[in-house]
Amino acid sequence: MKNVVLLGSTGSIGTSTIKVAEDLPEEIRLVGLAAGNNSELLIEQTKKHHPEAISISDPKKAKELEGVFGTSTKVYAGDEGLIKLATLPSADIVLIAIVGTAGLQPALAAIRAGKDIAVASKEILVMAGEIVMSEARKHGVRVLAVDSEHSAIFQCLDDKPSSSVRALWLTASGGPFRQTPKEDFANITVERALKHPSWVMGRKITIDSATLFNKGLEMIEARWLFDIEMPRVKVVVHPQSIVHSMVEFVDGSIISQMSTPDMCLPIQYALTYPNRVSSERVQTNFAKIGTLTFEEPDTDRFPSVNLARKAGEIGGTLPAVLNAANEVAVEAFVNRRISFLQISEMVAHVMKCHQVVAHPTLNQILEADAWARKAAVS
Ligand code: NDP
Repeated sequence: MKNVVLLGSTGSIGTSTIKVAEDLPEEIRLVGLAAGNNSELLIEQTKKHHPEAISISDPKKAKELEGVFGTSTKVYAGDEGLIKLATLPSADIVLIAIVGTAGLQPALAAIRAGKDIAVASKEILVMAGEIVMSEARKHGVRVLAVDSEHSAIFQCLDDKPSSSVRALWLTASGGPFRQTPKEDFANITVERALKHPSWVMGRKITIDSATLFNKGLEMIEARWLFDIEMPRVKVVVHPQSIVHSMVEFVDGSIISQMSTPDMCLPIQYALTYPNRVSSERVQTNFAKIGTLTFEEPDTDRFPSVNLARKAGEIGGTLPAVLNAANEVAVEAFVNRRISFLQISEMVAHVMKCHQVVAHPTLNQILEADAWARKAAVS
């Protein structure tokens, strides 16, 4: 039985995690749940799973929750609440599924409290991968991947050292505009960008999948999670999303992990690792799928892949700047202030203006993040 704290319980990953916990009541106990704004769903989840503690962003909503639960569940609020949950004494593992950068400090707090972390929020490793991985080594805890691509790579690597790897192959669905001609990119609307061909996800990551920034962020995430320098992290477009990623070893052998796309699978593996626990949820029928295809990503229509490669290769504060500028650009696109094409233009411009700090401290990373957000709107 693992005691799990779930940060971001009301989101897409959060609700899939709840399903996994309901599938495996003998294996997983939810001891802490944190949400942003959705107090109704948090109340429903709390009534069903009886966690020891919950947290919500708004202190006023926390007061209301205290009224609902009395002394049966401890209620916290805001950033402090996330830290309280991340360090809950009974927790074995903290799954971080908060969109954006709010998960970074709780992730570090959990590691320093000796908890394993399961990371869905890729922003954490993109911004501060060097610090997070070094803290995890220092405290002897695991950083487990929830992202389906990184879970696949983790499963394929099977503890082999990075010296045995020729390349990590991240697969990308290619998003809704894989076949859209460049001339039509100027006409891409928010509604079209929010229609992902194979995954149902939160709003930010869906737009990132349309621009391929999601793959860019994942390249940097992989670089840190698996201690592999950027030139060995490669991307191939695989529209069926059945091969979740692959490892090419130095002898030429390639191992992949496959299944029909369902986030419950990588979530379950992260929470039950190192065991494989029986579940009927995910079924894969190859005869029905028929064909698996692969193609080069088009870096002309999707400049995000090269921007992320550059940020990952230069390192320092540049990945945090890419991430922050992209967050601001996505928000501006969703609010119809900029066009789809301007998302990568905005990120490229902010990256160009940034003075990179090599091997930054956490404060320098947070400063770079704040600088990039200002630079992106100016
Ligand atoms: P959603 O937008 O669906 O959910 C985000 C969650 O974060 C919600 O529970 C939201 O609460 C919560 N939240 C936001 N801000 C705060 C805060 N300050 N304090 C506490 N909780 C907060 O996102 P996803 O689930 O899609 O994605 C979450 C992370 O996982 C992202 O980093 C994404 O890149 C990554 N990821 C997602 C995948 C997917 O399939 N969705 C796949 C792989 C990675 P509320 O709704 O109550 O406001």
